[in-house]
Amino acid sequence: MKAVIIGAGMGGLTAAIALKQIGFDVEVYERVTENKPVGAAISVWSNGVKCLNYLGLEKEAAELGGIMDTMSYVDGFDGSTMCRFSMAPLIEEVGQRPYPMARAELQLMLMNAYGIDDIHFGKKMVSVTDGEDSATATFDDGTTATGDIVIAADGANSLVREYVLGGPVQRSYAGYVNFNGLVPIDEEIGSATEWTTYVGDSRRVSVMPVSGDRFYFFFDVTMPSGETLERGAAREFLAEEFKDWAPGVQKLINSLEPDKVNRVEIFDLDPFDTWVKGRVALLGDAAHNTTPDIGQGGCSAMEDSVALQFAFTNHPDDVHAALAEYQEARAGRAGDLVLRARKRSEVTHGKDPEKTEEWYEELRHEDGANVLRGIIGNIKGGPVTS
Ligand SMILES: Cc1cc2nc3c(=O)[nH]c(=O)nc-3n(C[C@H](O)[C@H](O)[C@H](O)COP(=O)(O)OP(=O)(O)OC[C@H]3O[C@@H](n4cnc5c(N)ncnc54)[C@H](O)[C@@H]3O)c2cc1C
Repeated sequence: MKAVIIGAGMGGLTAAIALKQIGFDVEVYERVTENKPVGAAISVWSNGVKCLNYLGLEKEAAELGGIMDTMSYVDGFDGSTMCRFSMAPLIEEVGQRPYPMARAELQLMLMNAYGIDDIHFGKKMVSVTDGEDSATATFDDGTTATGDIVIAADGANSLVREYVLGGPVQRSYAGYVNFNGLVPIDEEIGSATEWTTYVGDSRRVSVMPVSGDRFYFFFDVTMPSGETLERGAAREFLAEEFKDWAPGVQKLINSLEPDKVNRVEIFDLDPFDTWVKGRVALLGDAAHNTTPDIGQGGCSAMEDSVALQFAFTNHPDDVHAALAEYQEARAGRAGDLVLRARKRSEVTHGKDPEKTEEWYEELRHEDGANVLRGIIGNIKGGPVTS
């Protein structure tokens, strides 16, 4: 069997590794010319880590992962701790520690695991077709790649999604812009082994540790879509937007490198159940574009890849049966995560400000049980259970 994979993000790369493991001949095509991911880091929750472990990357994942032993919520304005609790009950229940990881390092680790020299960079896919015996991707330089299957891991603005669904779909704006980057760990911002989140005024500012004594930070700013900000102007912008916030937030704003701050408008897409057309299948954000509010988009892409491997292990000679099993295994689970994230986003970002205030009040009385139950609910349900 031969698979043509479009996109060398975490979806395409984990799919490539997963299919190679079961003997597929795999070709990966990526439009960019080098490893330059948008975004500073991601939290790979336990379900994602389990997928990486399953793909033989346990040691590599642990090396890149930051250690989060506790979580806390802090009043964004006065800096008082609303709640702080251990993550040990979560780790014990799901059997795996989550790992926040720098995005570029995760991508590079996956590229090396697949074989970085075997990735065809600078190849922009412009169309796909499929027939009785094969599927073909065509690139903007006029070349083509043909396999038994095409796996489209071409991200949130997937072109192949239009092919599979028969037309374009509209993503919806979640009402906020996310600014993110990396800074050296500083205990005045947050504890070195804690996921610290400042909340207030339907906004949040968060830091979590990644390897190399760095914090991954992000600011969620509720604002209209379509506004622009010059690269390098993030510090002035955030200083103005968060001028009344606590000293830890000011410290963070002062320590960030403005040129390296990413600015991302957050969108998601209503879940849909058709991920496969003939020999072409969607995977990752192409199939389930979510807000990052529960940190599950990338984890879900990793789950897709493992499920794809399971499906072809069960149906080694039958592409259609395998892809049907893949779709059946994944569409419901991934769609559920998109809706969970949307719900979380609405509360965090003040869709109904009263509900957001109620949430802040809950946080002041939280002993960890509710928050951890929610996260455990997101983690459970993936293909790798042990
Ligand atoms: C601010 C933010 C924070 C996030 N935080 C988390 C988190 O904490 N945890 C988590 O699990 N997830 C998180 N996510 C989600 C996560 O980033 C995505 O779910 C994940 O990157 C999806 O991987 P993917 O491979 O499907 O898509 P992508 O990573 O977008 O990769 C798609 C690849 O396809 C390539 N491509 C696109 N079109 C073509 C084409 N025509 N031809 C060739 N190549 C093409 C692109 O260049 C890209 O390399 C976050 C997302 C955002 C925006």
